[in-house]
Amino acid sequence: MNARILSGKDIAESIKSEVAADIARLKTEYGFAPCLAVVRVGDDPASAVYVGNKVRTSEEIGLVSEHHHLPENVSRAELVGLVRSLNWREEVDGILVQLPLPDQINEREIIEMIDPDKDVDGFHPVNVGRLSQGEKSLVPCTPAGVIEILKRSEIEIGGKNAVIVGRSNIVGKPMAMLLLQENATVTICHSRTRDLPEMTRRADILVAAIGRPGFIRGEHIGEGATVIDVGINNVSDVDLARDLFGDDEIEKRLAAIEKRGFTLVGDVNPREAKEKAGNFTPVPGGVGLLTVAMLMKNTVEAAKTRRGVE
Ligand code: NDP
Repeated sequence: MNARILSGKDIAESIKSEVAADIARLKTEYGFAPCLAVVRVGDDPASAVYVGNKVRTSEEIGLVSEHHHLPENVSRAELVGLVRSLNWREEVDGILVQLPLPDQINEREIIEMIDPDKDVDGFHPVNVGRLSQGEKSLVPCTPAGVIEILKRSEIEIGGKNAVIVGRSNIVGKPMAMLLLQENATVTICHSRTRDLPEMTRRADILVAAIGRPGFIRGEHIGEGATVIDVGINNVSDVDLARDLFGDDEIEKRLAAIEKRGFTLVGDVNPREAKEKAGNFTPVPGGVGLLTVAMLMKNTVEAAKTRRGVE
């Protein structure tokens, strides 16, 4: 089998243009543009890239965006003060605190302090509870993006066996809730699951959110399954790269390792997935692109709900 590659690029672009059109309409009809405040603490290079993407995309599609950058040694009181002021400010519709936070800060305390109606990451317990009860809520961006990929690629979810590998609060668990809402029969696997390949081979839809490069191999994939690779890992080992990529990609990947010191790899072995799967999301160029698009969508949804407009 030669899997159909589900590119995230076109889907992310469609979502962003729909959101941009909605923002333009809100400006004309109601005289406001939704506002997203992004808080970054310290100088973690990955966080800087993620926040840069979020702020740039906000500006591209017409959101008002604020970037608050605090030093690595920021005090709890200072960060709490900033989040409180963002909660109070009427014109701020969405608040995103980029994780991870430095050791002196209790992440959970900060997440729980964000006004749930402005919690565009969907990590606040109120939103987690609403999602699990099937109520309208702000949904974590990455799993919401996976649902968009499936729907817009016309892959049926209802009645299908969906298996998720990973049970984190930001991907695995909300992914399970969303697939359940779409009427899939859902199984969640994790590091204590016995005979993982046997479990995952039953999947019509297999979602990998593990954090281990190329972990899901051909033996884990049922013939013709849809394989969604959420993982983002840096691989610098040339032998591992040779195991992960076939003739179609290996030269490009080795060149990336040579030039930048690493190549981006998901949690699925792409060479083997392409042989076994019916549909497959690439890394990069798959789920990752949807995360920012869904953040933009969440900000507009938060603005409409808070301001009572359609
Ligand atoms: P976490 O580390 O929080 O969770 C990993 C999960 O994988 C855990 O539930 C763990 O099980 C499970 N796991 C680890 N080893 C095994 C194993 N050998 N067999 C079965 N399960 C295993 O990771 P995240 O959910 O935060 O992220 C997962 C991946 O997705 C990462 O590569 C991350 O970079 C990427 N990611 C991508 C995003 C995007 O925008 N595309 C956004 C967020 C994350 P247990 O609970 O038992 O320890």
